[in-house]
Parts: sequence; structure tokens; C-alpha cells
Amino acid sequence: MPKAQDTVLEINLKALKHNFEHLKSKVKDHTKFLAVVKAFGYGSDACRVAEYLQELDVDYFAVAYVNGGVALRQAGITKPILVLHPQIANLKTLIKHALEPNLYNAKVLKEFINLASIEKQDNYPVHIKFNTGLNRLGFNKEAINDIVAELKKTSVVKVASVFSHLVASEDLNEKAFSLNQISSFDAIFKVFANELGYQPIQHMCNTSGILNYPEAHFDMVRSGIGLYGFGNSPDENKHLIPVASLKTIISQIHNIKKGESVGYNRAFKAESSIKTATLPLGHADGIGRQYGHGKGFVTIHGQKAPIVGNVCMDMIMVDISNIDCKEGDDVIVFGEGTTAEQLAETTNTISYELITSVSQRVKRIFLK
Ligand SMILES: *Cc1c(COP(=O)(O)O)cnc(C)c1O
Repeated sequence: MPKAQDTVLEINLKALKHNFEHLKSKVKDHTKFLAVVKAFGYGSDACRVAEYLQELDVDYFAVAYVNGGVALRQAGITKPILVLHPQIANLKTLIKHALEPNLYNAKVLKEFINLASIEKQDNYPVHIKFNTGLNRLGFNKEAINDIVAELKKTSVVKVASVFSHLVASEDLNEKAFSLNQISSFDAIFKVFANELGYQPIQHMCNTSGILNYPEAHFDMVRSGIGLYGFGNSPDENKHLIPVASLKTIISQIHNIKKGESVGYNRAFKAESSIKTATLPLGHADGIGRQYGHGKGFVTIHGQKAPIVGNVCMDMIMVDISNIDCKEGDDVIVFGEGTTAEQLAETTNTISYELITSVSQRVKRIFLK
């Protein structure tokens, strides 16, 4: 590992490859693999991650919004890109960059068909999403006839895939609910494909779905968090390697006397003398204020240093009273030793939130 000289997010591409191969080994050879690279590749770097995965054997990519897809195209990604949540205002840009929309309601379906015919498209690949319980995006099953009628009027679009999303794939207490979702989706798919007269790709599983519901792999799986190294359970985490490590260094050390305070609003008052280190990252870098007041911690020479007082915009102060360290020494916020999941737990959140919060101000460096 290179020594950090600044606050950096290290992206380990070997770990990405390992995770991809592990997840691939969980699905049948003919099952396609879609890599979810939304939110800057879960806070890493969507373009570099996608470039690397494109060289491996990924079939599809997905982003949340059109701008994420445009960035991938500009970086030279040529594989199909599904846009999970396109907005009508961006559909023209979507077509311009050959991105594939999720058509999740009647309005988007009609608007897209209209626009695609104005743009003289033929068999443009689109994706139809069904709501099977998440109640977030997607048609309800009652809409099947209307969708098919709309699609049969035109040849400007062709359904590349039909999908749905599991509500609680990581929670085995909700297994009955998930199995019910899977069978309703399968029934919807069969009716839909039959009415349509051809067989689009059928897909439902996210990472935890891949691991917990092999019967729901269908023709393709969609993995995000697993690629980045988290499997949503301690057993699965053992087989995955976190891709991103957030590292920084000690800028300054202070000896704080009993009765003195540290940081804004005197949020921490020393009851005995302590030693603190000031670190060059704060809530503008993704370490939110909820990590302050001793909840969150960093690791210095293998030892835990809790955050003291309020998190500032650009800095945090940590308690290093019992750690032998000096200015310039390395600090691990998450990565080796403490995972993002463990740090996230200190504030009752999840790895997804912490890793996607690392702001664009933090320099990304890549290990091959
Ligand atoms: C984010 C997302 C995924 C990926 O989920 P992970 O739990 O990160 O694997 C898959 N499908 C949809 C529709 C999503 O929004």
C-alpha cells in the first residue's frame, strides 16, 4: 500500500475482479450479469469501474439517471446501459447516447414512444418494470394489457427486458414475502411475454437476491453492493473484498488540558488531559455530523481513535491519547481493519450510505 499523503479514496480493482468472479460463480453460465454503477459506482468511480468490468465479462450496466449513462458513454463504454429512473426531460439525451430506458409508467412509456418515433428509431431497446411490492417504481400487473396494446401499435421500440425489484432480499425473516414476490413476478412475466409474442430478458435479483434466491436468477442478475465488497451478511462478507478504502493523514496534534474544549461550540470538554489529532476530512467529504461525539472512529496504527466533538466541514478531531503516533502518520477511516459497514453501524446506517457519501472532493486513486 502506498503511504497516504492526503485524504484519498483508494479503489482496489483486483478486489473488484475478485468480487465479480465470486458473484459470477453463484449464477449459471448462461445467466447474464448486469453491473450496477449508479451514484458514481457506489461512490468509487463509475467510469473506471465500468471500463474494468467491460474488459471482464459483464453483459449490461445500470445507472440511476441519464447523466450517469452519458458519463459512461463518454468514457468509452459500449455495452448496453440501462437507465433505472429516467425523467421525461432527459429522454432526448438518452437516445442521443444510446442509453436504454426503464419505462415504469404509462406517461414515460407514451412519451418515449413518441420521441423515439420523432427521432426515427426502430426497435429501440427499452425495459419494462413491474411493481411487485416495493411500491417505488413500476407498473402494476393490471396494466399488462394496456402496455402490450401500446407496444403493438409501433415498431419504434422493442422490449429488451422485463424486471422487478425485491423488497427485502437480505432479510431472511421476510423469506415468505420474497418468495411470493418472485412467483408473482414470474406469473406477470409469462403473461406479458405471451401477449407480446417474444421473450425479453427476465430479471429480478440484486446482490442479496443472487445470494439468497437462486431460483429467482432468471435470465440476468443485477449486482451493485456485492461488486463493491459487501454481501449484506457476515457469512457472505467473508467471500468479498471491499473495493474502496478511505485514508487520510494526521495534520496536527494537540495536547488538551483538563477543562479545555475541542471544536465548534465547545461540544467536547476534557475531563482529564487528552491528546487529539486533527484530520483533513469532514462532513463535506462524506463523514456526516452524526459520526461526531465519540460515535464514529478512525484507525491509527491499528488502534481505534474516536471522533471528538462536532464534525467540521473540512476537518475532524480524534482522540489519540493512547496511540503512539505523530503528525504525517497514516489514518484509515474505512478499509483495512475497519470496514465501511462497521463504521456505518456506529450511526445506525448501512455501508451503501457511507460509501456513496464520499464526496467528489476526495481524490480517487486506483490500485491494479
Ligand atoms: C441499486 C439497485 C440494484 C443493486 O442493488 P444491490 O443491493 O446494490 O446489489 C439492483 N436493482 C435496482 C432496481 C436497483 O435500484
